[in-house]
Amino acid sequence: MSPNKLGAQALDILALAAHRDDVEQTCGGTLLKAAQNGQRTGILDLTQGEMGTRGTAEDRAKEAADAAKILGVGWRRALDIPDGRVENIWENRLKVAAVIRETKPRVLILPYWKGRHPDHYTASILGYEACFLAGLAKLELGPQNSDVGQSTSGSLPPHRPFKIIYATLYYDIRPTFVVDISDQFEGKLASIMAYTSQFSDQEAGKDLFPAHDEIRARVSAMACFYGMLGGVTYAEPFLQKEVGLVEDLLAIPVKSI
Ligand SMILES: [Zn+2]
Repeated sequence: MSPNKLGAQALDILALAAHRDDVEQTCGGTLLKAAQNGQRTGILDLTQGEMGTRGTAEDRAKEAADAAKILGVGWRRALDIPDGRVENIWENRLKVAAVIRETKPRVLILPYWKGRHPDHYTASILGYEACFLAGLAKLELGPQNSDVGQSTSGSLPPHRPFKIIYATLYYDIRPTFVVDISDQFEGKLASIMAYTSQFSDQEAGKDLFPAHDEIRARVSAMACFYGMLGGVTYAEPFLQKEVGLVEDLLAIPVKSI
């Protein structure tokens, strides 16, 4: 499957985030695990990274494609929403809603709705409201014909994800569940390292390795912490607004005492 062509099949899981490399950091291991289990995964980046201190939007496009490959993600697209100015406006909601209809995800992963970076928390609300719009039968919404957000003729059928979950890694809040990524940790790390323009030390004569060591330590510390909460080595944190539904008390994971 080419990175931008979906064919007739829907995605099982779509992860949406403001910036290229956000998804790798917040839920890359979970996406890799899903792909390894045969599920169809995708990533929607709202911006193209043109405001980044290091590297150009073109550099980041190449890096994002490399990272997607490492995570086994078959579909990835970046919208043309301005970097550093992700706004929850009608025009942007329509762009995201069109992607929801086009990719038809069963599960949508959004960023958590609070945080330091306005793009991150705005992406959360924007994503949620776009899902609502995407399900309105009377809203005409055509497919996006390219990365620049122009609609082609013909409306896509309405669709809403069955489940919306929030990746909470960027915010200090207790997750409602974690995903065990012990076997996917190295892959997650490799997908983050794919963003060499962001993480390599660009100053002439500087060694790359200290930067890499620091990233590994940081990513590992977070994954360890959430792993500990779930009784596993490494995990990624998520929050769902709904309660958990249990069929069998004997099958509930995570030891209490
Ligand atoms: Zn970000």
